[in-house]
Amino acid sequence: MDLVVATKNKKKLQEIKEILKGLDLKITSLVNYPKTPRIVENGKTFRENAIKKAVTIAKFTRKLSMGEDSGLCVDALGGKPGVYSARFSGKPAGRTGRDKSDEKNNQKLLKMLKGLPLKKRKAHYHCAVALADKDGLVGVAEGTCGGLIGFEKRGNFGFGYDPLFLIPRYKKTFAELGPRVKHRMSHRFRALLETKKLLATYLK
Ligand code: IMP
Repeated sequence: MDLVVATKNKKKLQEIKEILKGLDLKITSLVNYPKTPRIVENGKTFRENAIKKAVTIAKFTRKLSMGEDSGLCVDALGGKPGVYSARFSGKPAGRTGRDKSDEKNNQKLLKMLKGLPLKKRKAHYHCAVALADKDGLVGVAEGTCGGLIGFEKRGNFGFGYDPLFLIPRYKKTFAELGPRVKHRMSHRFRALLETKKLLATYLK
């Protein structure tokens, strides 16, 4: 069966494919559907945005679709950047400008946390995944992953805030730890584990 992931973010799609590996699904993304309607991510929660993406794309493609919305929530900033994670430093990145906007977002975050000791730099990633088909919403799953925001960027793996996101147990960032470790404990992994259960029931 086809599963359309409602994203144009190649790195995110790659993570989703790696985590869902083993399921009998042909996974495609919006890159394969260039004429999809523009989805305005104006929900107050990750869940709302994920549902909107899944339902819109399922209606358009008439195929089982997955909407994923995720971001970083920093305790000292009252949960910011939250649903604004991708556009924290300004406009959302275009397909070509994503790395540049990741860099700006990281610099802004470091600036806002300047002077705070490590114990006050608690944060978590949050991920909501929604599944929908042509008849509407199938289900929603969510996952989180806790960590600390480091003092400088470290590592080259991953994307977004990964070079700053320290996992206390390893004293390393997700960007240093790489996909093998990240995909066993990340917010996306946890949400997708639940999603796998939803998919198994749905495919029956
Ligand atoms: P979305 O594509 O609108 O869901 O935006 C998600 C944004 O949250 C990304 O652009 C990143 O800035 C951030 N984010 C979400 N998940 C991760 C992750 O696994 N690592 C690093 N940053 C992430």
